[in-house]
Amino acid sequence: DKHSSGTESMAVEKFLGGLLATGFDEESCISRYQAALYRKTSSHKPSAYLVSKLRKYEELHKRCGPNTESYRRTLKKLSSSHTNGTTDCNYIVWTPSNGLGNRIISMASSFLYAVLTNRVLLVDHGTDMAGIFCEPFPDTSWLLPMDFPLSDQFYSLQPGNVHRSESGFSPESPLVDSEVRPVLRALPLLDPIFPARTRQSCFPDKEAVFHHLVRYLFHPSNQAWGLITRFYQAYLASADQKIGLQVRVFNRKASPVSVVQQQILGCIKKEKLLPQVDEQKLIASPSKNKTSRAVTIASLYPEYYESIKSMYWMNPTVNGDVIGVYQPSHEEVQHWGNNIHNLKAWAEISILSLSDVLVTSSWSTFGYVAQGLGGLKPWILYVPAGNRPTDEPCPRGKSMEPCFHFPPDYHRIPSTKERPDAGSPVPHVMQCEDASNGIKLF
Ligand code: GDP
Repeated sequence: DKHSSGTESMAVEKFLGGLLATGFDEESCISRYQAALYRKTSSHKPSAYLVSKLRKYEELHKRCGPNTESYRRTLKKLSSSHTNGTTDCNYIVWTPSNGLGNRIISMASSFLYAVLTNRVLLVDHGTDMAGIFCEPFPDTSWLLPMDFPLSDQFYSLQPGNVHRSESGFSPESPLVDSEVRPVLRALPLLDPIFPARTRQSCFPDKEAVFHHLVRYLFHPSNQAWGLITRFYQAYLASADQKIGLQVRVFNRKASPVSVVQQQILGCIKKEKLLPQVDEQKLIASPSKNKTSRAVTIASLYPEYYESIKSMYWMNPTVNGDVIGVYQPSHEEVQHWGNNIHNLKAWAEISILSLSDVLVTSSWSTFGYVAQGLGGLKPWILYVPAGNRPTDEPCPRGKSMEPCFHFPPDYHRIPSTKERPDAGSPVPHVMQCEDASNGIKLF
């Protein structure tokens, strides 16, 4: 009957079409199943193959994760110099660098690598990301235990240094650079472990790879969910339309505030994202259906918010629409090593992901995560470096996948040495809209 099929479809949506496992303690992570009530239903369903891979991974993680017999055996092996015998569990350890957006993308990539190579992903969230995400896998933890024996070395080892328990490198004899290359060469690269056929079964929807991974892995902790839902209920819930505007300015000297402001206004006008204001009128003409639009601005700085808010307060809109403009925080500078700062950043990424219309900023992984979580194709604001706004202030992104800014050279097309574009022979890979050397899926 109608009622039960309605309930059924709600249940399917609650678990994101099977993407999320059942059996979690719901109270410990309210957002895991509640977020679906705040977002529009994704038009992208995870494939049955992906779902089965995830359930298999969860089993593996439960069997090999921290505090299991296998984990203890691996630790013992790591701290002894002779490493005879094998364990049935292999691991990949993720350590943080850069801001939260970069970190989320690299954790998602590491997770996919772990799934494809039957490794167990352990993440070192240290103190500055402590408590901002829920545990993603049931009945276990993905947090690298504090007493993990190699932790001290992660920070002295630069990227590229690798320890492999199978190959007998002991923590007492870290690798030097010339030794590293053969080890890296011995690690399975993606092509052999993820052949086209498996890619097709796992992600038939080429532009929803990151979308599924990020929705599967990253659930705001109850503390973060509190920030998100309080903001939502206070400012967004009653609006007819929610617009997210992320203004990420990497270099304030190169991109003067007034130029960025003009660029934002140009974007709003050209793409008709918000109505113009009528500077000749004091009061909007009475109209029956006034649409209310709530604009959430995420930025480290307050000026962009101040000017847009003021514009819509000082003047009526030409069509009578009611525009609210809000900014959750303005932290001014990127803080390092502070979990409240990351908590706010995560809350803002999540709030942006609840938008109906999203404008991100060029080159920003912070924006990529918001678009992936939201399942949104953003308008990409080009933050100009120079004294003039540009003619195409915010073209629409072709997909919601993140841009890989620095791909290795083998992604160039051999005949032309160019990066692939939308019409290139490399299927589903294009040059990024916002980074000419980068590539992305579409
Ligand atoms: P990207 O540098 O834009 O690619 O994004 P990242 O997230 O990797 O690094 C930027 C970091 O700066 C974020 O993680 C935050 O710590 C901070 N940040 C940048 N923009 C914002 C913002 O709009 N809101 C908040 N709360 N923090 C921001």
